[in-house]
Amino acid sequence: MTRTLDYDVLIIGSGAGGGTVAERLSKLCAQGMRIAVVEAGPWYRREHFNMREPDMLSLFLDRGAVPAKSFDIAVTAAQCVGGSTSVYTGVTFRAPEGLIAGWSRDFGLPELTEADVHSRFARLEAAIDAHVPGRDYENENNRVFRQGCEQLGWPVKQFQLNIKQCERCGFCNLGCPYGAKRGTLEVQLPAALAAGVELIPNCRIECVRDGGAEGVISPAPSGTQAGEHEPGPVRFNAKVVVVAAGTLNSSALLLRSQLPELSPACGKYLTLHPALTSFARMEQDVRGWGGFPKLYYTDQFSSSDHYYIETAFYFPFMTARSLPGFGAEPKRFMQAYSQLACALTLVHDEPAEHNAIRWEHGRRVLDYRLSVASKTALVHAQRSAGRIYFGAGALEYVSLLGKRFSVSRERELDDAITLDALVPGKVVVSSAHPMGGCRMGKDPATSVTNAWGQVHGHPSVVVADASLMPTSSKVNPYLTIMALADRVAEGIEHRLTR
Ligand SMILES: Cc1cc2nc3c(=O)[nH]c(=O)nc-3n(C[C@H](O)[C@H](O)[C@H](O)COP(=O)(O)OP(=O)(O)OC[C@H]3O[C@@H](n4cnc5c(N)ncnc54)[C@H](O)[C@@H]3O)c2cc1C
Repeated sequence: MTRTLDYDVLIIGSGAGGGTVAERLSKLCAQGMRIAVVEAGPWYRREHFNMREPDMLSLFLDRGAVPAKSFDIAVTAAQCVGGSTSVYTGVTFRAPEGLIAGWSRDFGLPELTEADVHSRFARLEAAIDAHVPGRDYENENNRVFRQGCEQLGWPVKQFQLNIKQCERCGFCNLGCPYGAKRGTLEVQLPAALAAGVELIPNCRIECVRDGGAEGVISPAPSGTQAGEHEPGPVRFNAKVVVVAAGTLNSSALLLRSQLPELSPACGKYLTLHPALTSFARMEQDVRGWGGFPKLYYTDQFSSSDHYYIETAFYFPFMTARSLPGFGAEPKRFMQAYSQLACALTLVHDEPAEHNAIRWEHGRRVLDYRLSVASKTALVHAQRSAGRIYFGAGALEYVSLLGKRFSVSRERELDDAITLDALVPGKVVVSSAHPMGGCRMGKDPATSVTNAWGQVHGHPSVVVADASLMPTSSKVNPYLTIMALADRVAEGIEHRLTR
């Protein structure tokens, strides 16, 4: 039997967006308001993160890869309490100067000002312990990257990270067993729960409407914290429904709900920061798993060729999956796992209408094709990452875009790494930064929400996650998402209390 639960605010999703809204609104609980966060995924707490790659794949939506219909790209996102902030690395960027002003100008959003969004960054950074860590965090993987950039005369910049008392075990992307990574699982959600917000894990919302939503609560998987409600179908009534299910799911949820007069832009204009990982074998031991995985990036080619290169570290399965081909060569390379240095190249892609989340035949479809500009940027970026490693003395360099398994000299990079290698299905580019789908804007024909995240024509249905972004953030996006969600929550608070 379907039970009915009544709230003032129902928040769908507990990641960067939903967690931030929950905390911001939690003070309303003291005025007697009822607020719930419903999360499709299970509730893993610190003690449940066992750092084993095969087990922890269950933190991810579709075990870590949602492929595009074109097979050009596969997106990774989490499905657990804390959302993708439970598996992210904590690289903390403010939106680049001028980005928000550009959205305001180009999408008819005068209330959305650069000053407003930027004023939220400092407060959020303090709350989640974002800071530039000391040089003692530099492990060999990061040192090699810095040395290579310095050798080439390219700027090498340090990230802010939101970590506290980090054990530097290197397993951030499998969930932090020490609670050192200060995502919504550790900061915003505990604060919200302490103030009286309810958390309902394992609850998938299947339909939203003005005034509520419908969903199903599933039993908690073993090795996770159970919620308080019995499994079964649920009908939620709520004055405000906050859709914060992430870019892969928020527009899909609106589309399947068939809200009347939903904008034809719903699901469209996705950006993904298409990315490729590449590896260098060094003479010395690198032992990338020891220490914090990501410290540095270079923006040498950000304006001219539209990409960043960041340090990275991946576990054995992910590493093997990111090597070209099968057989003796990858096996030989994997046997040198302790000598591997690793970088991630991320492209600043532009929004296009045809890149979209669709709801077809009862399922979500990711329809995304890499543009010529993105492919060209990926090739340039893969060559540049090779240059960094040869600058630091690499013995060989492996890129998925190589004509042969590996390259052993810097001067071979341009010939060996080419666009022809970028064959859909053979080289699956990855993404962990899906954005857009419910973009903000004035015009309901080309945007889904207003500057306060309210869905055009449905003011009590409010979006508060990465899908709000009209264009990509160009940088790792979570802090920008939190700032936008904080702003959306302020709007809700204002409307509920006036
Ligand atoms: C491995 C990895 C590493 C990353 N590293 C970084 C980094 O270092 N720095 C950075 O800036 N960004 C990073 N990101 C990206 C960042 O984590 C995301 O951009 C951000 O968390 C997105 O916030 P969101 O609220 O839009 O979605 P999410 O944080 O993904 O949260 C959405 C939540 O909604 C839930 N949900 C979905 N559908 C439903 C439904 N129907 N009912 C109920 N709940 C639902 C999902 O299960 C999920 O928990 C990383 C991402 C990944 C995957």
